[in-house]
Amino acid sequence: MAKKIQSALISVFYKDGLDKIAKLLHENDVTIYSTGGTQKFIEELGIPVVAVEDLTSYPSIFGGRVKTLHPKIFGGILHRRENTEDVKTAAEMEIPAIDLVIVDLYPFEETVASGASEDDIIEKIDIGGIALIRGAAKNFQDVLIVSSRNQYDDVYDILASKGCGTDLEDRKEYAKKAFGVSSHYDTAIHGYFLGAEDAGNFRSGTSKTLRYGENPHQSASFHGDLDAMFNQIHGKELSYNNLVDTDAAVRLIDEFEDLTFVIMKHNNACGVATAATAVDAYKNALSCDPVSAFGGVIITNTTVDKATAEAMHPLFFEILVAPAFDEDALAILTKKKDRRLLIRKEVKTSKKQFRSLLNGVLEQDKDMTMESGKDFKAVTKTKPSDSEVKALEFALKICKHLKSNNVVLAKEGQLLSCGVGQTSRVDALNQAIDKAKQFGFDLNGAVMASEAFFPFPDCVEIGNKAGIKAVVQPGGSIRDQLSIDYCDENGVAMVMTGVRHFLH
Ligand code: 5GP
Repeated sequence: MAKKIQSALISVFYKDGLDKIAKLLHENDVTIYSTGGTQKFIEELGIPVVAVEDLTSYPSIFGGRVKTLHPKIFGGILHRRENTEDVKTAAEMEIPAIDLVIVDLYPFEETVASGASEDDIIEKIDIGGIALIRGAAKNFQDVLIVSSRNQYDDVYDILASKGCGTDLEDRKEYAKKAFGVSSHYDTAIHGYFLGAEDAGNFRSGTSKTLRYGENPHQSASFHGDLDAMFNQIHGKELSYNNLVDTDAAVRLIDEFEDLTFVIMKHNNACGVATAATAVDAYKNALSCDPVSAFGGVIITNTTVDKATAEAMHPLFFEILVAPAFDEDALAILTKKKDRRLLIRKEVKTSKKQFRSLLNGVLEQDKDMTMESGKDFKAVTKTKPSDSEVKALEFALKICKHLKSNNVVLAKEGQLLSCGVGQTSRVDALNQAIDKAKQFGFDLNGAVMASEAFFPFPDCVEIGNKAGIKAVVQPGGSIRDQLSIDYCDENGVAMVMTGVRHFLH
């Protein structure tokens, strides 16, 4: 049978929506205790309220920092109604039984998001409210905890249907929600102190329901702060797959300081080029694999101008990310209504990454290292030329951001082709060679990069027969010498970095 509520403590930041519940409690003769602002709000509804101060004989002090933190309040919530000793003590100390606690916490996240000063943010760390939530949730055997204003409507329905009573099942369900609220709240505070870079923004940002997940039958949501990173100026809302692709695109473009265009498809690059002008970089990137570019995600580190927009307009692409767009470029690009255009803002993001699997979540540091020419250790008699070193540096940057196993074939400033996500490195290389031929590239004098070592000399041999003259790889295989010997016998330059860049 439902247990009738005798008295309630209400202390809420946002008062809207409280009137219905307050009236219902009053109609059912429930004694209401309340804190300053909430008390005033309920009294204005014509409902009698007992001030918390009258119960505790202690005023709210330190600008409200200490309001409800008193044994009469916490004893009223926490004593066990079935425990004779507890009940006896409560009677001796004149501690009332508080059966319902309604709290709506200080809006910490909202205050952080508003750009408030540190002092204002610190004041919005609720102390008594969070303690009330935890205390009432702990004693769900006897107490119903309402821990957010979002719960008022559902709680009203429960109370109205049970004559202001609650069942154990209800109380336990709301205790579960309450610990969800308190853990989210403290995590947000923790995230604020850590700073976005260390925390991973998803711990402190907001949640957003996506239309669906990877496929339409999968529901999905995003947790974090996309608005801090992008200003979407055109097109449909970003989908789950768009977000995954954009993430990969951002990681790759951030390797480049020179003016660069990247075209991504399903997490892998299908075009990358660096050039003196935006339009040339775009055209060179597109030429790598114009077939895969269809439906892709384009990202650049330069302003999109009119000439580039004109070159790009005929292509169907999902997203274009750039630091800025010229007005006349926008006039062209916005002609297609679904095309998503994002302005990328300067923001520090988490140095950690997370992936859910099996029965938990994996956390690791992001792969932030990138080797350049000065880190290359030449292991062959033939050394790469300056231009080959530049091409190898360029190829390695791309290599780091493609699914393993991968092989990249490139010349200075242009990706020629790549083989990605293969179960053997030979397959990756053969795929790259086939694709280069398919799109009309001559591989003579091109360079090759591999994100992990060559376990056998077969890759350098196949590459060399296709025209490759310089190779970069981490090294570390017990059979490295076989690859080195092949290169020495065939005039191929090979450098090792000592750093592997698996991407699984
Ligand atoms: P009111 O507007 O009623 O004066 O204050 C309501 C707010 O105070 C609620 O958000 C509640 O969580 C918070 N609160 C209740 N007791 C305490 C306390 O002892 N210390 C602090 N810092 N906040 C409290």
